[in-house]
Amino acid sequence: MSEHKLGLDYAIEQDQNDILKSYRNLFHIPKDAQENELIYMTGNSLGLQPKQTKNYINQELEDWANLGVEGHTEAKNPWLPYHEFLTKNMAEIVGAKPIEVVVMNTLTANLHFMMVSFYQPTKTRYKILIESDAFPSDKYAVESQLRHHGFDDKEGLILWKPREHEELLRYEDLEQILKTQGDEIALIMIGGVNYYTGQYFDLKRITQLGHQYGCKVGFDCAHGAGNVKLNLHDSGADFAVWCTYKYLNSGPGSLAGCFVHERHAHRKDLNRFTGWWSHNKQTRFNMRHEFDQLPGAEGWQLSNPPILSMAAIKASLDIFNQAGIENLIEKSKKLTSYFEFLLKQLGEDVIRIITPSNPQERGCQLSIQVKNADKNLHDKLTKAGVISDWREPDVIRCAPVPLYNSFEDVYRLVEKIRLSLALSKGEGTNRNENKPEH
Ligand SMILES: *Cc1c(COP(=O)(O)O)cnc(C)c1O
Repeated sequence: MSEHKLGLDYAIEQDQNDILKSYRNLFHIPKDAQENELIYMTGNSLGLQPKQTKNYINQELEDWANLGVEGHTEAKNPWLPYHEFLTKNMAEIVGAKPIEVVVMNTLTANLHFMMVSFYQPTKTRYKILIESDAFPSDKYAVESQLRHHGFDDKEGLILWKPREHEELLRYEDLEQILKTQGDEIALIMIGGVNYYTGQYFDLKRITQLGHQYGCKVGFDCAHGAGNVKLNLHDSGADFAVWCTYKYLNSGPGSLAGCFVHERHAHRKDLNRFTGWWSHNKQTRFNMRHEFDQLPGAEGWQLSNPPILSMAAIKASLDIFNQAGIENLIEKSKKLTSYFEFLLKQLGEDVIRIITPSNPQERGCQLSIQVKNADKNLHDKLTKAGVISDWREPDVIRCAPVPLYNSFEDVYRLVEKIRLSLALSKGEGTNRNENKPEH
C-alpha cells in the first residue's frame, strides 16, 4: 500500500494542504511563448530567481550611487561585514556552527583553497580518493592538485567505483579500499550528494572511516546544500564546499560556501593561501601590520567580496530562513516519494530509477534511466514544456524542489513523460505500444 494516490485530484489536494504552498509565489517561474508556466525540474542545476532578489540588489546599487566608498560602513547593510549577514542562515542550512561557515569565492576555487590546507601529501601518503562518477570539475581539480605536488594524476587518484551493473556506491567497497590502501591516501573528497545518481552519502560514516585510516576528509556539497539535511558539524568532516546557484537560488555563477570544522578554527600550523580578508578585522586597514589570521572559516577568505552577488544570496537565504529547512526537507521527502510512486506506474520494465529508494539516502532529485531512450525523449519533453536534464546515454534527472515545485508539477511531469514515451494510459500501464520487441 502506498501513501499516495493516482489522479490529478490527489495532487491538487496535496498542494492545498501544503504549508509551504505560498512560497512558489515568491519565485519567478519560467514561461513558454504562450505565457504558460513551464514545469521546471532543474533547480539542482540553476535555482529559480526569487522575486525579491532585484530589490536586494537594488538596495546595494542605490547605496553605492548615493554613498560611494562610504557604503562600506554607511550602507543600510554595510559592505565591510556584509558576508557576516549570510553566515547564520547558511550555517543553519548546512548544519554547522557559524564559526565553521563562510561565503566566498566560487565553488571549484574553494575546493582548491581547501586542498591547499587539507591536502598535504608526503612521499608515502599522497593519494586522493574520489567517487568514480565525481562531477568533472572536482575530478579536474584533484588531478591538478596531484600534478601540482609533483605526482602522477592517474597513479595518485583512487576511484570508489560501483560494482558491475550497478550505479550506487557501497560502503563495504570503500572499507575495502581503505583496508588495502588507507595509509597511502592523504585525502578523501566525495560529492555529498552525487550529481548523477542523486545518492546522498553518509558523511559521518565516510569521515569516521577516513579518519580511522589517517586521511583528511572533505565533501563537495553542491547538490546537498539546501536539498538535504547535511549536519556538517556532526559529520566531523575536515572541510566542505558548495555553490549557491543550485538549490540555494542565488543566481548563475554566484558565490560559494565553505565549511571548515571547528577543530581547525584556531590552527595556525595549517598551510593556507591568504589575503587581506583573512586578516584580523580590527587591524585590517592598518596596512603595515604583520599578518594576524582570523579564526574560523573566515580566515580562509582572500578578497573583499562582490556585494551584488552576496545581496542575491541574502535574498534567497532569507526565504530559507522563513520557510525553515526542516519544513522544506519534510515536504521534499513527500514530493519525491510521490514522484517515485507515479514513475513506478509507468512500468518498471520501461523506467528504472537509479537514485536510492531509501529517503535517507537521497534528496529531491530522481535520476531516471529510460529503456531504449535517446535524446529524442528529452527533446519531446522540452517541447512539452518540461525543463529537465539529460545525461548520456539514457538518464533524465529531475529535481522537484520543495520551495517552488508543486505536487501538480510532478503529476503533470509524469503525464508528459508517459505521453513522450507513447505509453498507453489506464490499466495495463506496462504496455508500450511503440516499443520494439527488445
Ligand atoms: C555544480 C557543481 C560544480 C560546479 O563548479 P563551479 O566552480 O561552481 O563552476 C562543481 N562540483 C560539483 C559537485 C557540482 O555539483
